[in-house]
Amino acid sequence: MDAKDTADTVTDELVAANAQYAESFTDPGMDARPVRRVAVVACMDARLDLHEALGLALGDCHTIRNAGGVVTDDVIRSLTISQRALGTRSVALIHHTNCGLESLSEEFRHELEMEVGQRPAWAVEAFKDVDQDVRQSMQRVRTSPFVPHTDDVRGFVFDVTTGLLREIDPEIPRER
Ligand SMILES: [Zn+2]
Repeated sequence: MDAKDTADTVTDELVAANAQYAESFTDPGMDARPVRRVAVVACMDARLDLHEALGLALGDCHTIRNAGGVVTDDVIRSLTISQRALGTRSVALIHHTNCGLESLSEEFRHELEMEVGQRPAWAVEAFKDVDQDVRQSMQRVRTSPFVPHTDDVRGFVFDVTTGLLREIDPEIPRER
């Protein structure tokens, strides 16, 4: 057999790492309800370590991630369950600098359609202005009829070069 055939895939590596993890793991005896009653919605970006960057520990929060940290219907679904069934009260939205979605456009859907013969039902949710995209996300959470607790919904841009969060004002600054 070729050495290549026996080489571990990355998933094999994950499974091996898990076996090690489980060896020292002890049941924390936690409830499913997040201790700090917060849901964090963030981009899936590999450079963003949410727990480290926000001082979060195991059991503290719900993390809801997708490409861009976009508030899609499915994110609303998760937030609704998070608040109504699992007791969270605050929402933190985290986008970041240098996001892959800044280099895409809705043209991506057209290209997909041309290639595979079917247009996706979902929007790409590409953006040019990250601050405005965070505002849009805050607005979608605040105006959702399904999410009952919207007093503490805040949005941020994480700088992937400094590790710092910058808070976004929900109001659009007046053009001057
Ligand atoms: Zn991103």
